[in-house]
Amino acid sequence: MAIISDLYINGAWTKGTGRLPVYDPSDGSVIAEVATSDEALCLAAVDAADAAAKSWAATAPRVRGEILRRAYELMIAEVDSLAEIVTRENGKVLADARNEIIYAAEFFRWFSEEAVRINGEFRQAPSGDKRILVTHQPVGISLLITPWNFPAAMATRKLGPALAAGCTTILKPAGETPLTALAIVDILNRAGVPAGVVNVILPVPTGPSISKILHDPRVRNLSFTGSTEVGALLIREAADLVIRTSMELGGNAPFIVLDDADVAAAVSGAMIAKMRNGGAACTSANRFYVAKKVAKEFTEGMSAAMAGLKVASGLEAGAQLGPSVSVKERNKIAALVDSAIAGGGKVATGGVVPAGDGAFYPATVLTVAKDNDILNNEIFGPVAPIVIIESDEEAIELANASPYGLISYVYSQDLRRALRVAEAMESGMVAINRGVISDPAAPFGGYKASGLGREGGFDGIHEFLEKKYIGVEI
Ligand code: NAD
Repeated sequence: MAIISDLYINGAWTKGTGRLPVYDPSDGSVIAEVATSDEALCLAAVDAADAAAKSWAATAPRVRGEILRRAYELMIAEVDSLAEIVTRENGKVLADARNEIIYAAEFFRWFSEEAVRINGEFRQAPSGDKRILVTHQPVGISLLITPWNFPAAMATRKLGPALAAGCTTILKPAGETPLTALAIVDILNRAGVPAGVVNVILPVPTGPSISKILHDPRVRNLSFTGSTEVGALLIREAADLVIRTSMELGGNAPFIVLDDADVAAAVSGAMIAKMRNGGAACTSANRFYVAKKVAKEFTEGMSAAMAGLKVASGLEAGAQLGPSVSVKERNKIAALVDSAIAGGGKVATGGVVPAGDGAFYPATVLTVAKDNDILNNEIFGPVAPIVIIESDEEAIELANASPYGLISYVYSQDLRRALRVAEAMESGMVAINRGVISDPAAPFGGYKASGLGREGGFDGIHEFLEKKYIGVEI
């Protein structure tokens, strides 16, 4: 596993202007000292992206697509070493890390295909006085900011469409997990991305340099994935120059089990929806609304499955639940559980911070009342609070009583009933009888405070394209 710890600007690796330690959360050891960028170096990245913008936009879509396709192939060929980097800096178990690398690589494959399918229109105006031409052009320099929980996939979900569309980019990974992003950029470099098209910065502190970039008129687009709080702050920053934004923000996913559900299937789906990434996913099931008739069976099944998970360092053979990304994050999870218990919640399994080093938290199942405050928080960890519901209507009402609306899960053996619930969900995505639906070929994104815009699918590339209408006299 070769670790790259330099930044990448204008086609060259640079030592940066400072260093930041990157930790292995399973034992707190330092994996690497990654380069950081001061304001001048961040602006050098904008200069580089600007210098490369015209020729990249003019590069044939087929050529852009073939570079992305090569990057996909390199990622798949190097899945093991990339997964190890993810596990080392993020903590997720190796099986999750491998799945993430494959999912991440698929964004390069999908957008290599989308690069050559950008559509347009040529039609007669209704009045007959002119022709309407609609074409698409790259929006321009795009700032891409990613979180620590999917350090590979969140980067490729932005780099793929940006490069396919013909935009040059500045990528700012999370300070906790920059090494995966640097390894992916190394792959893009080897796949043939020209100098200046992809640049990586890591400003510390983050806010002031990002604000500077968002006030540079050459920058035209911000694609952000992270918390709603930081996303809202960046929307305000981007407002000054009316920079286009797409926002993939926090979630608080309801997981609804109706009284006719196949309970065994619901438990295995719940284990995926809850425990992928150790619960640190924006799509992670966060509130379980379970019909009274099946609640006991579901809670017992879920508790047994959670209690049976092997908690260990992500690299250890057979590990199923690794540490959180940091002790700070782990302590947030523990505090949420403690206050849920103080608020009347009962522990079915887990709930106690283990002794020893490392940011570990046990897989935990709680039964809580529908007004327990834990249901209002994105837990981002291996904790499943279960609430008993009396009817489909109550499930819908409780599920929608949230400022978030990223994804919902519904289990029922009656597809008509499940679809009725799905249509009532105030969320951008609904999974029916499945624990995971993320797919590069489908539009990913949220309603309400969970975001703006969609990534992946046919929409993803349009986040990086301007639509231009040309009216022609005939
Ligand atoms: P975060 O908002 O703290 O950080 C996200 C990124 O923003 C990081 O790169 C961080 O360094 C940067 N950042 C922080 N403060 C900034 C500032 N003032 N200016 C500019 N950039 C700043 O989020 P996180 O803790 O890394 O990630 C967890 C959050 O991300 C959760 O809320 C999760 O739901 C969300 N998330 C959403 C999706 C989605 O697709 N909707 C996917 C993954 C994660």
